[in-house]
Amino acid sequence: MSEHNTVEYQAFLRQRRAELQERIEDAARRVGRDPSDITLVAVSKTVGDGEVEQAYQIGYREFGENRPQELKRKVTSVRNNPDMKDARFHMIGNLQKNKINQVLGNATLVHSVSSAHLAQAISQRSLTKGRATPCLLEVNVSGEASKSGFSLQDIDEAVDMTMKLEGVSLQGLMTMAPAGDLDAARSCFSGLRELRDKLVIRTGMPLSVLSCGMSDDFEVAVEEGSTLVRLGRIVFDPTYTSQQHKWIV
Ligand SMILES: *Cc1c(COP(=O)(O)O)cnc(C)c1O
Repeated sequence: MSEHNTVEYQAFLRQRRAELQERIEDAARRVGRDPSDITLVAVSKTVGDGEVEQAYQIGYREFGENRPQELKRKVTSVRNNPDMKDARFHMIGNLQKNKINQVLGNATLVHSVSSAHLAQAISQRSLTKGRATPCLLEVNVSGEASKSGFSLQDIDEAVDMTMKLEGVSLQGLMTMAPAGDLDAARSCFSGLRELRDKLVIRTGMPLSVLSCGMSDDFEVAVEEGSTLVRLGRIVFDPTYTSQQHKWIV
């Protein structure tokens, strides 16, 4: 997806962004939520700097990457571009301890903290850099073996441990829903919200961020309380067709 004709591709990005904002607003209003509480993170992992810049020009500010090296590369490229000074990158993918340095100071939020060791390592490195890193704990709500994240059994302990880490600023929770089944996705998202609500009562922390919802299920995620939807193909790929909707390009 790299050789996009600039004018046509940018027109596609702009129209698609307007449609996505409308769909997010509609989903929020259906359940009485304020649409401004939901942020669209444009997952740029499959596109290059050119597409990111075009997306920025038509209004996107938040981007998501799932590989530390590529996140660092894109952040560096953006920092060298005076026209893109408000671009922020989220780390949304699996993070190994030996890659933390590529992410700290480069990611605005780490969505994918999926083990106690990783949280501790992020905290240590953040303290040496003198700044706590905003993080989410990834929860495997659906319990699928293929998914990473804390199990529902382990999450309480993980939250208690993370709260004590001075180098981690715990903002909330993240999950990935089972693919291809909107009902299963809905119960995954509502499970995440209910878990958060219980944790808020027990810990007194706000935990205001819920990162859930992707191209195929973001409206359900918004209906169930998501505050950060992570949209990749539906933002950047003109050939993407939703599993649920017949999308007209
Ligand atoms: C790729 C990716 C997304 C975006 O997925 P789409 O289905 O393309 O919207 C969201 N979250 C994570 C963690 C991803 O790796």
